[in-house]
Amino acid sequence: MTDPIRTRLDEIRSELAALALDAGRPADAIGLVAVAKTKPVEAVRAALAAGQRRFGENRVQEAMAKYPELRGEFPDLELHLIGPLQTNKLKEALATFDVIETVDRPKLAEALAEALAKGPARTRSLLVQVNTGEEPQKAGIPPREADDFIRDCLERLKLPIAGLMCIPPVDDEPSLHFALLRSIARRHGLETLSMGMSADYRLAVQQGATLVRIGSAIFGERPPVASA
Ligand SMILES: *Cc1c(COP(=O)(O)O)cnc(C)c1O
Repeated sequence: MTDPIRTRLDEIRSELAALALDAGRPADAIGLVAVAKTKPVEAVRAALAAGQRRFGENRVQEAMAKYPELRGEFPDLELHLIGPLQTNKLKEALATFDVIETVDRPKLAEALAEALAKGPARTRSLLVQVNTGEEPQKAGIPPREADDFIRDCLERLKLPIAGLMCIPPVDDEPSLHFALLRSIARRHGLETLSMGMSADYRLAVQQGATLVRIGSAIFGERPPVASA
């Protein structure tokens, strides 16, 4: 019997390739971040067996518990932090994640620059999270502060910012948020656009996503959480 995780991964990969070609982009233009938060190591293993190497987690502690052994077996595994980062978890995050997608405030940017200057880290690339919907409960730099913040990260702090990430408000038209993210990235010559989740990745690809973060469409539904 074929593993359902493999089946869904195969379907999503072919769809991403087709969507990329439709948009006049190379078939491999869209990277897939498989979001395994709350799912057991066995689920990650099933995805690895199906050839998936890039994973997303939203909590530092959970990632630290889940991946060390897998890292040994799959040296090309690439782990992305997609949840908020507190500065007291910074050291652990820099040792655990290849990419941190949630640089969202000056204090964190300063702390990252300081830590990266101090010594070696696993993290080699960062994304700035933009709160495109200006939702008070959501992380991310507000759009009107984004230009100054990105410039400061790049020019003064010399952070390895590769691009931008956003999570649109649940009951808004996501395409508007994806287009806004793309226009901010363009102004700074940033190429990576992490946007699109299970419900809206097709729209995100149409708007130029280079990374989509897909969880439930691969691993199945998660139990509801009190806050995100
Ligand atoms: C959980 C999560 C995802 C994946 O969400 P799905 O709807 O399960 O695809 C993507 N991005 C972030 C930031 C998340 O927290």
